[in-house]
Amino acid sequence: MLAGLAPRALLPLLILLPSALAAQAERPRRVILVTLDGVRPEDFFGGMDSVITATDSLSGIANRDQLRATYWRSTAAERRRAVMPFFWDSLAPRGIVLGNAVRGSRVTITNTHGFSAPGYQEILTGQAQSDVTSNDRVRYGHETVLEYTRRRLGLRREQVAVFGSWENFREYAASHEDGVFVNAGYDSIPGTLATPEMRRLAVLQSRALALWGGSRLDAFTGAMALAWLRRYQPRVLYVAMNDTDDLAHSRRYDRVLDALHALDGFLWELWRTAESLPEYRGRTTLIVTTDHGRGITPADWTDHGEDVPGSANIWLAVIGPYTPDRGEVAGAEEIHQANIAGTLLACLGLEVRQWNSTAANAVPGACISAR
Ligand SMILES: [Zn+2]
Repeated sequence: MLAGLAPRALLPLLILLPSALAAQAERPRRVILVTLDGVRPEDFFGGMDSVITATDSLSGIANRDQLRATYWRSTAAERRRAVMPFFWDSLAPRGIVLGNAVRGSRVTITNTHGFSAPGYQEILTGQAQSDVTSNDRVRYGHETVLEYTRRRLGLRREQVAVFGSWENFREYAASHEDGVFVNAGYDSIPGTLATPEMRRLAVLQSRALALWGGSRLDAFTGAMALAWLRRYQPRVLYVAMNDTDDLAHSRRYDRVLDALHALDGFLWELWRTAESLPEYRGRTTLIVTTDHGRGITPADWTDHGEDVPGSANIWLAVIGPYTPDRGEVAGAEEIHQANIAGTLLACLGLEVRQWNSTAANAVPGACISAR
């Protein structure tokens, strides 16, 4: 009797064990890309900048004492931690962070423009695109790394999803209208795909007015993206934030720091959500970067472009299980914005050369390709 029971008792284990192992092995890699528009490396790595904030008139600070109490500390490491505590305490140690010139690390753009559209096309196509010379709403003919990923992996449209504050991401995300799922500007989620939370966010975002038309506030972009992540678990999620650029152009340095602090809160919620989902936990790389730098003087920190020194300097963080836990990298070779697309593919276990022979390589060693 006992001898007869044992095999039957083991049977479920014998059936389940190999399939559970197989499911574990096959659990696909995922990538979440987040861009923070026009965030200077000086602020990202150094926090509150004493050069920019030397005068109230050129920095636009409303309450100096309050701002100093909130963000001023004696060292750069403490200052940046005051602005983005979750990033520096919890994310940076789990990956690599490049672009701090003070430590001899440089990340630069290869397009000659230093403004948004050329930067986003360089990020998404792995090279500077000579036909991208304005911020106009234009759909370009270059396949993006997002479209390629969907094509290569045979994914449904909602599995490669873009949430952008700026409406231009409707065009910039893909070379074809149906290339990937895009929700940008004040878009709502199509009825068949929307959850009650997404419908509510679509109503509220239209009442919360950003400084200018054409972009919604990042709080709504982030909340929509998180709702999508929980509902559809996309293989690749791209969240394109915008508040920091609008506030810098408006010469409000205090609010730029506040916006970065709020974005740090979003990164916390994003990472915590991803870690809570079995599809993402231990399989997900978070890439965080920016489209361009800005000026470095009190007069021109608000601006960026070809004629504004500092605009070409950016930064890049790659965080996740396939990346060495090095934190801030010192004295590395110069990295370019064009390397980001190949890095994204490497983190998915894909090879940039199989996509596009003219796209730049992945950042060396940023993501191991073997399981
Ligand atoms: Zn920009």
